[in-house]
Amino acid sequence: MDKQVSLHVKCPLCDHSLMDHEHFLSGKPAVKLNITTDEDRGVVWLCSIYDCYEKELSIDVPNEQIVDFYCPHCNKELTITQLCEVCDAPMISLVIKAGGRVLVCSRNGCTNHHITFKEVGVELGKFYEEYGF
Ligand SMILES: [Zn+2]
Ligand SMILES: [Zn+2]
Repeated sequence: MDKQVSLHVKCPLCDHSLMDHEHFLSGKPAVKLNITTDEDRGVVWLCSIYDCYEKELSIDVPNEQIVDFYCPHCNKELTITQLCEVCDAPMISLVIKAGGRVLVCSRNGCTNHHITFKEVGVELGKFYEEYGF
């Protein structure tokens, strides 16, 4: 993909935008989520560009540890029952404003994430419109 696609994502539970317009990764507003581990709680910023695995954590999380993700607005857990195909950790699910969902593995260090569209034709059309392919 030549063009970088920056995704605008929302909480699936309260519909609030998860974009942090004061924190940028790769020149785009990052996706901000609250996280907790067994020992600590903090914040993670995920790069909003599809296919970019860059992220920043406000706390130290050991590699391969599974992290719980929460919406910073409604504080509900974003983990879903679907498991990562690569490492079997729970996935988290975020809604893409243009349609569809992005699933991200909750294990630190696992880069598995993908986008799902409910109705591929319709959603892809909207997606391309919004991001101007
Ligand atoms: Zn929420
Ligand atoms: Zn995984």
